[in-house]
Amino acid sequence: MKTLVIAEHDNGALKPETSKTINAASKLGFDIDVLIAGLNVGAMSEQVASIEGVTTVLTADNALYQHQLAENMAELVLTIADNYTHIVASATTTGKNFMPRVAALLDVAQVSEIIEVIDSDTFKRPIYAGNAIATVKSLDSKKVITVRASSFDLQSQQSPASINALDTLSDTQLSDFVSVEQTESERPELTAAEVVISGGRGMQNGENFALLNGIADKLGAAIGASRAAVDAGFVPNDMQVGQTGKIVAPNLYIAVGISGAIQHLAGMKDSKVIVAINKDPDAPIFQVADYGLVADLFEVLPQLENAL
Ligand SMILES: Cc1cc2nc3c(=O)[nH]c(=O)nc-3n(C[C@H](O)[C@H](O)[C@H](O)COP(=O)(O)OP(=O)(O)OC[C@H]3O[C@@H](n4cnc5c(N)ncnc54)[C@H](O)[C@@H]3O)c2cc1C
Repeated sequence: MKTLVIAEHDNGALKPETSKTINAASKLGFDIDVLIAGLNVGAMSEQVASIEGVTTVLTADNALYQHQLAENMAELVLTIADNYTHIVASATTTGKNFMPRVAALLDVAQVSEIIEVIDSDTFKRPIYAGNAIATVKSLDSKKVITVRASSFDLQSQQSPASINALDTLSDTQLSDFVSVEQTESERPELTAAEVVISGGRGMQNGENFALLNGIADKLGAAIGASRAAVDAGFVPNDMQVGQTGKIVAPNLYIAVGISGAIQHLAGMKDSKVIVAINKDPDAPIFQVADYGLVADLFEVLPQLENAL
């Protein structure tokens, strides 16, 4: 029994999801190899080698993997899949892209977005937008698993494991990278931020989101939004938190002018401390909030910023 974890990175920096996914994999109880595929992954592979529980780091350092296209990534994983009983990646855009392909090519059922490992073939995962937790058991001889990284802590450090370069190249020529357009932001990434402040329809328009900026600056927070705020065009959709947006679990989540619909809660209710600011005392967000302030956001946001 042996586990392969596929590292999450952006060719420059290792993403925290890698460490959290290794934490999840460590609960399976087997040796863990970590595959890091990309271009110029040298420094990142050393970081991975120092994450506790890693036995060997396997590198596939080639332009073929620079953009981690699903077709080439899946082929690469398949070349070493025989050595492993468990193949694990985080349920990020990248993991969700190539892992189903790995599962299909191995002819097994993927176990998606686990939040807990019960034993080596039994896992917990959210269903119905997080309103129920299913315990699922996979009878496949090889398990292909994606992990909801926000449900696991960062793994501690160890003295570095060995790093081996893979010499297999898998150019399937099935897809080409054309371009990527990314939002440039000084702020932390929403899914990795320790603090998130989100605005909802109560913000009334995009300009008013500026009221969140000063607070976010002071708290080092990322700024999120409800779908209503995104759909109304207040802010771009990469800021959406929720069932059909990003799943976040920061230490502190501040919901401003957000009612707390289940689809929004699905994306943030695992946050450690939840603060809600809403003028309606009956807003459902108060049922999940640790601290609630029934107030007009336009009055209290400037006061909060000043107090900070
Ligand atoms: C399939 C599906 C998927 C969805 N996915 C998502 C998702 O990923 N994320 C998501 O967020 N939603 C999602 N939704 C939408 C969700 O159901 C809600 O419609 C949405 O979350 C509501 O956003 P809101 O809380 O900002 O708006 P509203 O529900 O309109 O709430 C606005 C809140 O602001 C408060 N408010 C207004 N003015 C002020 C003020 N001056 N001061 C203080 N408070 C004020 C009001 O009291 C109210 O509680 C989804 C829906 C469906 C059907």
